[in-house]
Amino acid sequence: MSSKQPGATRAVPRCPVCGRPREERFRPFCSARCRDVDLARWLDGRYAIPVVESEPDGDDMLPEPDER
Ligand SMILES: [Zn+2]
Repeated sequence: MSSKQPGATRAVPRCPVCGRPREERFRPFCSARCRDVDLARWLDGRYAIPVVESEPDGDDMLPEPDER
């Protein structure tokens, strides 16, 4: 077996706002402007946060069973 790492493709970290290669001093963004844009989104409350939670669709109205 060769020492090949999975996902060894070294992609340049990109600015999550505009997708440009990010700048070290503004990381993880590319500029102060993008940093402000991202912050504004958060404060605005309309930032799409990917909720990764194993949630069964349908019966989330049911109360939790008593597991004390
Ligand atoms: Zn940017």
